[in-house]
Amino acid sequence: MERILSDEIAQHQGKQIMLKGWIYNTRIFKDFAFVILRDRRGLVQCVLNKPEELEKIKDVQVETVIEVIGTPIKQQGSEENYELADSSIKIVNPVMEVLPVIINKKILDLNLDTLLNNRPLTIRNVKQQAIFRIHGIAQQAYRDFMLSRDVVEFFPPTILTGSSEGGSELFTVKYFEKDAKLSQSAQLYKQICIGAFERVFAIAKCFRAEKYATSRHLTEATQYEFEMAFVDNIDQILDFLQETIRFMVTAIKTKGAKDLKTLGIEILDVPPTIPKVTMKEAQEIVFKESDGKQDDRLEPDMSPEGERIMGAWAKKTHQSNYVFITHYPKKKRAFYSQQNAEDGTLTDSYDCIAGGFEIASGAIRINTYDTLRQSAIEKGIDPSTIEDYLNIFKYGMPPHAGFGMGVERFTQSLLEAANVREVTMFPRDVNRLTP
Ligand code: ATP
Ligand code: MG
Repeated sequence: MERILSDEIAQHQGKQIMLKGWIYNTRIFKDFAFVILRDRRGLVQCVLNKPEELEKIKDVQVETVIEVIGTPIKQQGSEENYELADSSIKIVNPVMEVLPVIINKKILDLNLDTLLNNRPLTIRNVKQQAIFRIHGIAQQAYRDFMLSRDVVEFFPPTILTGSSEGGSELFTVKYFEKDAKLSQSAQLYKQICIGAFERVFAIAKCFRAEKYATSRHLTEATQYEFEMAFVDNIDQILDFLQETIRFMVTAIKTKGAKDLKTLGIEILDVPPTIPKVTMKEAQEIVFKESDGKQDDRLEPDMSPEGERIMGAWAKKTHQSNYVFITHYPKKKRAFYSQQNAEDGTLTDSYDCIAGGFEIASGAIRINTYDTLRQSAIEKGIDPSTIEDYLNIFKYGMPPHAGFGMGVERFTQSLLEAANVREVTMFPRDVNRLTP
């Protein structure tokens, strides 16, 4: 008999069908029992009333793998819910031990460490599944949007000889007789690629040896990478990022509607124009919005509290989950960021803040060899470690710009998760390498 999925049973009313899945729950009475079966689409109540069937489930535990044959009928007192009547059950693979955590509840009241330590099991929880389905829909939407805009997907390497971003957040790995570094971003490779394809994207792993344990930092993260040639003004690249985000949010609201409902989350539409302010303006807004309590005006960067305030400000004044902050100081940005023409201390760079934290960074890039090499040296990068990258700038690189958006941070902001680990299936951080 062909297997039917839980959300298809209404179409088979009155006919015998087979379901396959896991025991979500059982309720056993004297002459009959309910077995709730879970498959990848949802839950179905199966009614068992033959003595030999009741015997089979006497000692079974939840999460046992089963097959059930029965007849879909409308559940008593319900217009839309169906159950499987007169069911017979086959135990395909019984659970061997008592589960270490209870997962068949709407809300798992587990602390984050217990949730993550038991991830192979907790991922089966219906709400947990919804989170990761949305995470997948987001990535599919990113890919769909990019392909619709004539952008070529590429696959950067992650084992490198040197740093791509500067800084000391690099993992060193033993690579035969040498040491190698794990990639911090696909930055250098996406820039190289625009010389061929003009527009490239990647969904790429990045590794950052960040020792601090914050609610938004992982040591292994993923980035939505994008780079585009023949762009020399910041509005053009921000428009592209804005439309990328709009497409992704719309896709999640439609394709992920059922999962968002399971999670009880309503997502704001992306406004026609995402608010855009310079970092200097943002610091003034932060100062005002906090009644002078948060003063970043003399700081070279946005503080985490400043980002939180800017997120709240965008929501309050523009009904937007997103805000762009532009023109960060040179000393806070990576060496490849282009210097601003009017103010040499600034760069043509930007961040996107969502909710209350950074989800993306980008800039117009330097596209001339001498300036780029000099800028790397000023940032303490030995040009010989990025020679292949630098050299391509001798051979005709157009003006270009791009962004890197955190895949996990995007989902975190969208689902309003307090901690990025909640939306990362198997997170890696300073304290966690398993499961
Ligand atoms: P932050 O200032 O928040 O540490 P960053 O400016 O160092 O981030 P970028 O180099 O701009 O990060 O990387 C692009 C995007 O990748 C970030 O905006 C963020 O969404 C994501 N990202 C960067 N580092 C991490 C990390 N350690 N964990 C999770 N996501 C990250
Ligand atoms: Mg950044």
